[in-house]
Amino acid sequence: MRYFPIFVDLKDRRVVVVGGGEEATRKIRLLLKTEAVIEVVASELHPELSANPRIRWAAKDFSPDLLDGAALVYSADKDLNPTVSAAAQARGIPVNAVDEADISTFIVPSIVDRDPVVVAIGTEGTAPVLAQGIRARIDGMLPHGLGKLAARAQSLRDKVASIVPHGNRRRAFWQEFFFGGPRAALEGGDEVAFDLALNDALFNEGKPAAGRVSLVGAGPGDPELLTLKAHRKLQEADVIVYDRLVSPAVLELARRDAVRIPVGKTPFEPSPRQSEINDILLREAKKGLHVVRLKGGDPYIFGRGGEEQAALEAAGIPVDVVPGITAALGCAASAKLPLTQRGQNRSITLLTAASEHGVAEHNWAALAQPGQVCAIYMGVNAAGDVAANLLSAGMSPATPVTIVENGTLPTERVIETTIGSVWDAIHTRGVSGPAIIYVGLPSDRAAANIVPFPVREDIRDAILRAAS
Ligand code: SAH
Repeated sequence: MRYFPIFVDLKDRRVVVVGGGEEATRKIRLLLKTEAVIEVVASELHPELSANPRIRWAAKDFSPDLLDGAALVYSADKDLNPTVSAAAQARGIPVNAVDEADISTFIVPSIVDRDPVVVAIGTEGTAPVLAQGIRARIDGMLPHGLGKLAARAQSLRDKVASIVPHGNRRRAFWQEFFFGGPRAALEGGDEVAFDLALNDALFNEGKPAAGRVSLVGAGPGDPELLTLKAHRKLQEADVIVYDRLVSPAVLELARRDAVRIPVGKTPFEPSPRQSEINDILLREAKKGLHVVRLKGGDPYIFGRGGEEQAALEAAGIPVDVVPGITAALGCAASAKLPLTQRGQNRSITLLTAASEHGVAEHNWAALAQPGQVCAIYMGVNAAGDVAANLLSAGMSPATPVTIVENGTLPTERVIETTIGSVWDAIHTRGVSGPAIIYVGLPSDRAAANIVPFPVREDIRDAILRAAS
């Protein structure tokens, strides 16, 4: 390691920046996050700098004595860099000449700022793009309220020291403070819950930590469609209880040492009942663990998230919910199928074709009206019945249908057909993965991955006969 990372206290100390252009402004934006006194030496000031009362325009022309007593010097003026660097070094002041490592005595890391928590990333100038990438990842992992939490910790230090004995117990308290109930409450913006959780952590040392469950939407499959919050929850989980529909690529993003419990429902195979899943969640949370209940798409859309939430809350387990991109939205984006368009449709219905008693009942007459659009979940097996219902209710057999199978995954297929031919298309093409069936959306045939299916006007009667 050639460069040693340190944090420099700049409170009320002078930092001199030579240069008043774009580069200097970029450095000063960062310096403004500190409590430094910022002095600029430049013939002209960038408007962003002159507008800022915290910035002092010390001089137009550089002279070495302007650096006397400064804590740090930045030089952002190509012509002056060597002179400024020499002057700073002669005075023993650390200097950074922008983009000139050979005449700089310090370099500035990439920073993730959750003041007072700051993560600095450096590559000693070898790979700035890599540093940026690492920065983006860490940024995604750290909650935005982290700084607030650290500031609270600071203000509570004396109180905690007077209540919780030094050593293991105090460490356990802070562990709970930063990763358990108090942090969850503060993130939720609930001050009352924060006080309660804090008191619990302060006074209930003997009891095991309170467990909790996060119902997290994993999106339709592409791991990049996870929210930042879902990603963070996966990094923090002790236990992950996941569905069959959650893609392996999403699970890849979870903490390595989290326990993983699959509860996937696979068609035609014995699978856990909802009550058993609820029992697993309760059992794990009662151990004091942070359980992530990871569900395909969004937990509240055909995901039984409400039932799990109710069972947990009835048992006094705190629950929080992280939304996900539901399949109807993810598949539409992937197939480039706008879900609403001016002059086309003013609403879209998300519906399930399956219910616990077979094909789900809907107001078919309303759905069959011209201009109605629906996105059908769990429709592959029931497509024939759905089509029969819509056709009987008067829908035109030529109404466009787009089927998106394994949407957003590498195995995605898009099949374009009509309501009159949907059953035929599903069988001929062998659709077997999870799919969304869009009814009433004219698709853009120019979109590269759409395979048109021949329209069969004759099939309406056949479907109607089969259904009767
Ligand atoms: N909670 C989920 C839906 C679960 S129901 C969500 O919000 O998306 C399961 C149904 O979702 C499947 O039968 C299928 O209709 C749809 N589905 C889930 N993932 C899908 C994918 N990658 N591509 C197409 N459809 C998908």
